[in-house]
Amino acid sequence: MIADLHTHSHHSDGLLAPEQLAQLASARGVTLLALTDHDTVAGCDSMRNACSKLAVTFVSGVEMSCTWRGQTLHILGLGIDESNDALQAQLSHVAELRRARMRLIGERLARRCDAELGLLALGIAEKTALPTRMHLARDIVLRGHAAHTGEAFRNFLVRGRPGYAPCEWPDLTTTLQAIQIAGGLASLAHPHRYQLSSGALRTLIGEFAANGGQAIECSSGPTSPNDVTRLAALASANGLLISGGSDFHDPANAWNTPGRFAKLPAGSDLLASRLETKHG
Ligand code: AMP
Ligand code: MN
Ligand code: MN
Ligand code: MN
Repeated sequence: MIADLHTHSHHSDGLLAPEQLAQLASARGVTLLALTDHDTVAGCDSMRNACSKLAVTFVSGVEMSCTWRGQTLHILGLGIDESNDALQAQLSHVAELRRARMRLIGERLARRCDAELGLLALGIAEKTALPTRMHLARDIVLRGHAAHTGEAFRNFLVRGRPGYAPCEWPDLTTTLQAIQIAGGLASLAHPHRYQLSSGALRTLIGEFAANGGQAIECSSGPTSPNDVTRLAALASANGLLISGGSDFHDPANAWNTPGRFAKLPAGSDLLASRLETKHG
C-alpha cells in the first residue's frame, strides 16, 4: 500500500482539479489517497468518483485551520462524512473568516505598499470560494511584484511584513469536536513546521491526545529523518498513530509530488492502516 494522506486540489490552494490529482496519484502508484483541502470539502465528491475509476481507495478529508496559544495550527480530519451539518457550519464560518482576513490584507497592502497590491487581495476576497495567502502570492508573482511565491510571502505576507493580517481561527477543542462529530480521525499536521519549543510541542500533543486526536503527521513531504524519528517517538509516548503525506499543491514542485514524502519508521502504528480497513 502506498498511502498519501495529505493533498490539495484547486478547491483550496492546490493547482489541479480533483480528477487530475487522482490520476497523477494513481500514476505514481498511490493506492490510498486523501484529499485534504484547506477548510473545505468541496472537492471530495469529484475526487471520490475519479478514484473509484482508478482502483484508488479514497479517503475524504480536510485540513482545518486552528488557533492554539496564539499560533496557527493545521489539523487533518480524515475519513470524515463531508456532508455532516456541524462540520459544514464550521467550514462556512472559517471561509468567512478567510474572506474578512483577505480584505484586511488588501486594506493594509493598499495603505502601506501599493494600490495595485491592495486590489489583488480584494479581488481574491470577492472571487475565491476559499481565499488563501497562496492565491495572493501567485497573483503578486503574476503582476511582477515578486520573482516566486516564496519571495511574495517573505516580502509581503508573513508576520512583520506589510500585508500580514492575523486571524483567530477556531480553537483546538472546537476543531477536534467538528472532526469527531463528522466521524473522522484527526491527525496533527506537520508539527515540525510550527515555531514551538520542545516543551510547548509536548504540551500541544498532550492536549491533542486528551481531546480525542488520533495521530501525528510525522512525515510531510521532505522531512528530515531526525524530525520523523522525534515525532514518531512523541506519537508512541502519547498512544497516537502516525501518518504521512506529500502536502501536494503544485505539479511543478517535484519534491512533493503525490505519494512522495519521507519514509515512516517500520513497525509503527499507521493511521493509513486504520483508514484502509475502514474504507478499503
Ligand atoms: P493561509 O492558510 O491562507 O495562511 O495560507 C497558507 C498556505 O500558504 C499554506 O498552506 C502553504 O501552502 C502556503 N505558505 C504558507 N507560508 C508560506 C511560505 N512562507 N512560503 C511559501 N508558501 C507558504
Ligand atoms: Mn496550502
Ligand atoms: Mn498545512
Ligand atoms: Mn497542507
